Amino acid sequence: MTRTSPPLDALVIGAGPAGIGTALALDAVEDLTFGLLERGQIGQTFLDWPEAQTFLTPSFTGNGFGATDLNAIHPETSPAFSLGVDYPTGSQYATYLRSVVRHFRVPVLDDAEVTSVVQNDDGFTVESARGPVWARSLVWAGGEFHQPLTPRVSGSGLADRACSAAAWRAREGRAVVIGGYESGIDIACHHVEGGADVTIVDGETPWDAGTGSDPSFRLAPRSRRRLEAATATGRLELVAANAAGVKRDGSEWVVSLDNGSRLRTDSRPIAATGYGPGLGPVDHLFARRPDGWPELDEDDQSTLAPGLFLSGPAIRHGGLKFCFVYKFRQRFAHIARVIGDRAGKDTGALEAWRAAGMLTDDLSCCGVECAC
Ligand SMILES: Cc1cc2nc3c(=O)[nH]c(=O)nc-3n(C[C@H](O)[C@H](O)[C@H](O)COP(=O)(O)OP(=O)(O)OC[C@H]3O[C@@H](n4cnc5c(N)ncnc54)[C@H](O)[C@@H]3O)c2cc1C
Repeated sequence: MTRTSPPLDALVIGAGPAGIGTALALDAVEDLTFGLLERGQIGQTFLDWPEAQTFLTPSFTGNGFGATDLNAIHPETSPAFSLGVDYPTGSQYATYLRSVVRHFRVPVLDDAEVTSVVQNDDGFTVESARGPVWARSLVWAGGEFHQPLTPRVSGSGLADRACSAAAWRAREGRAVVIGGYESGIDIACHHVEGGADVTIVDGETPWDAGTGSDPSFRLAPRSRRRLEAATATGRLELVAANAAGVKRDGSEWVVSLDNGSRLRTDSRPIAATGYGPGLGPVDHLFARRPDGWPELDEDDQSTLAPGLFLSGPAIRHGGLKFCFVYKFRQRFAHIARVIGDRAGKDTGALEAWRAAGMLTDDLSCCGVECAC
């Protein structure tokens, strides 16, 4: 593999909110050389979202008073302001990301899938569809959307993934959704609103209030409201049991449950069972925690390959999950500062991110519970 010369100080992989946000923070470090490679187009994951799917975290332009829009990736931007909506669809959010890239002139190279990454003594050699790149630090921001988790049951291949367009097409008769957290509730309500009868199965009953106030463990208010409306139609059933298997029976599908009962449905069941960390070509450069998520040091850096950072929803520290934009954006400026300090650059401008509520470097302050 040939290498470009001289090396970039940093290379970011993936032009979603995590990659673009990290690149914007890198841009605030004086004289740092960096670039961003994207497999498809800017905001590709959001372009791939089913049409009817929207954000569940609301956008609101509170920026002027230190309450930066929850879905913003830079302190001076707000999807609510630029899109005029509070719950963007995927294509609307991709429009926001494109406008941020254009406005701040983020150096993104699209159609540049990264196919392999090798760590050397002096950085990383990255092979992409647009040729090789050599960088001293690497930020993986490849997202999770393309690694939906398959339910661990026999016949799981007979189910549609909740992130697929097929799962969102109108259903007649009874639909069965496996998994009852945010994406399961979202798609179940969508089908009830479309006139179908829907059964959601989940042994952990995540639709119950949950413990604590962290939205990573508790349904968002909007989801709860939609759930109440769907339940009031009498066409939504919530079953506290796990799917044990899926079978085809003539023109029907049969979902057997671990409580011994069976559900018959006229359409393919829908699996809303979450996402994996989706580490693609850097998978071999991360050790795993006992729960399977990537093991990171306190700077969101791989414990196996120092210099390789993770940005995005797969970040976990202890029991903390950074799975929403407003959470994982707390780390863009922190990662940029670690990279900038190592390169001997001035990182002072990153303090503006803290003032906007977009920089957390002391993780002990996260996870505070609301009193009421
Ligand atoms: C269904 C769903 C709903 C969600 N709703 C919300 C919500 O309401 N609010 C919220 O805050 N969060 C939400 N999230 C969580 C999170 O904000 C999103 O997952 C978000 O897309 C994560 O941003 P990202 O930049 O890490 O990944 P992505 O947006 O997935 O971006 C990753 C990018 O990397 C590119 N890429 C991947 N592999 C390569 C490669 N090998 N080479 C080059 N490029 C590559 C992809 O093409 C993609 O453009 C949701 C997630 C899902 C799955």
